[in-house]
Amino acid sequence: MKRMAIRSKTIVLKVKKKRPSGGHIRTRVVFKPHHKYIFVLGGVMSGVGKGIASSSIGTILSAKGFAINLVKVDPYLNIDAGTMNPTEHGEAFVLNSGLETDQDMGNYERFLGRDLSPHDYITSGMVYRDVIEKERALKYGGKCVEAIPHIRDNIVERFKYASQINKSEISIIEIGGTVGDYGNVMFIEAARVLKMKNPNDVVFIMVSYLPTPGALGEMKSRPTQNAVHQLASYGVNTDIIIARASTPLDDRRKEKIAAACNIPTEHVISAPDIQSIYDVPVNFEKDMLAEILLETLSLPKHKTSDTFKKWKKMARGIKDHEDRPLNIAIVGKYFNTGDFILADSYMSVLEAIKFSSYIVKVKPIIHTINSRDFEVMSKVKSEKIAGFTLLDTMDGVIVPGGFGESGIEGKLNVIRYCRENKIPYFGLCYGMQLMTIEYARNVVGLDMANTAEIDPKAQHLVIDIMPDQKKKLAEGKYGASMRLGIYPAKLLKGSIAQEAYSYFGLDKLPKLTMTVKERHRHRYEVNTKYIKKLEEAGLVFSGKSPDGTLMEIAELPRNIHPFFLGTQFHPEFLARPLAPHPLFTEFMKVAKARRKGI
Ligand code: GLN
Repeated sequence: MKRMAIRSKTIVLKVKKKRPSGGHIRTRVVFKPHHKYIFVLGGVMSGVGKGIASSSIGTILSAKGFAINLVKVDPYLNIDAGTMNPTEHGEAFVLNSGLETDQDMGNYERFLGRDLSPHDYITSGMVYRDVIEKERALKYGGKCVEAIPHIRDNIVERFKYASQINKSEISIIEIGGTVGDYGNVMFIEAARVLKMKNPNDVVFIMVSYLPTPGALGEMKSRPTQNAVHQLASYGVNTDIIIARASTPLDDRRKEKIAAACNIPTEHVISAPDIQSIYDVPVNFEKDMLAEILLETLSLPKHKTSDTFKKWKKMARGIKDHEDRPLNIAIVGKYFNTGDFILADSYMSVLEAIKFSSYIVKVKPIIHTINSRDFEVMSKVKSEKIAGFTLLDTMDGVIVPGGFGESGIEGKLNVIRYCRENKIPYFGLCYGMQLMTIEYARNVVGLDMANTAEIDPKAQHLVIDIMPDQKKKLAEGKYGASMRLGIYPAKLLKGSIAQEAYSYFGLDKLPKLTMTVKERHRHRYEVNTKYIKKLEEAGLVFSGKSPDGTLMEIAELPRNIHPFFLGTQFHPEFLARPLAPHPLFTEFMKVAKARRKGI
């Protein structure tokens, strides 16, 4: 076997094979190209959509038949995103493995339509901890351990490993933060080294922002130029600029940026604000971004497969049905940051609602309601306090996951109101626990029912800490210590949940589903001591762990309430644009039925 040529980075080998009848036949074996890396960095400011840009590049390259993997780098020193306040950092997105990650990982899974592995998420905390542990174990042979090369090389190894376990051809790696931050310098340095060693296999994309100051009325390109120049000072040249702005870029600005940043004009991609993030891959496809990337990476052209048609249909459909609005309330507490409202803390919930609305053919209008506004409620069932009538105008109410005491009484009041007034109610994790407490207090008659999370001395701990959690908290082990990741649940035949999972499918026929697997993130659970009392009073536990000890789904029968259902798990983490979640879809169907005439 002899290496003959390297053409466009494709290694061509000539192999001699023996003919059974004697002599040799010459066959040509074309090996796969070198592994390719696309690094996505942010310029000018954070929050311009690097995550969506990276996800969308993943979607268009997958649609061209490439095996790709997406990696998110978070420069903070936290080991994972589990210990961060959602108003600081947005939602903590849980993977099957239980790793608590950045909300961008949720976008990656949704745009790729598949589960990601824990190796697809890297934080500085993980890297530094690993290097320090190796140093303590004498793994560096007595050397002085330093940021360069040890931290940098640890990062390079992680990039490579993620591509190997995903068996991918192209890695898309999003480096969190903005060019100019201290935190992400080592990651940029790792990317630089990869480029230096493999000049034809690495591409740098800068997702930048072009502001149009109101007083000027003109779009300014200088901050983008500066960001590109700053990146160049690290030894990294930008190959492609995704120019985010409120409006499309004109040719003049494209040419100006291209000249100042030393790239061809076609490498400046205009990415104006749009109504739906699911249009971004469609726009990238129109702008031939995949072709530009393949050419820059010396890869052959590929046709876009038919699966992309499905994506396009969904992207169109998700914006549709303006004439069928449904009011959906999300009652939470992680909305306010300073004077601003941040719905990011519930990102997966919002997206899950969108996907199911698309197939139920309605337009969801989301109302973010602060639970603190509902803290006072009359004890008399029929008496309606003014504020609560807002709930009458809702077609469905969701209480999502949460922690701690604040806003809890308000949430309990909202749940009670929904139950008594037959408003569709969907409780996610804390929302299920609170629904159980509400039922215990107001139907079973256990006035002092509570969760150990709020009042560990309460007379009726209907929700109690999980046995293994007690020890962890006593030892102060808060990081990655909840019940995390995917676990199975057995469903009760004939229940709303079991039927929703069974009769659901976009193109598929109904399929009897008796067991499901869902993602979890909690420390507390329904106390088994109260199950009998709750069941006798009418609450149905329609999903239980296989050994029957953990209550995974609670619901009221259809003849009592159209949809009063809660899950101990987080169904929103498995909702995908092309595979909406059955429970969200059932909830939206019932919400639609409540709104007569649409
Ligand atoms: N705080 C509750 C628990 O830890 C619920 C968690 C959640 O909603 N994710 O059990």
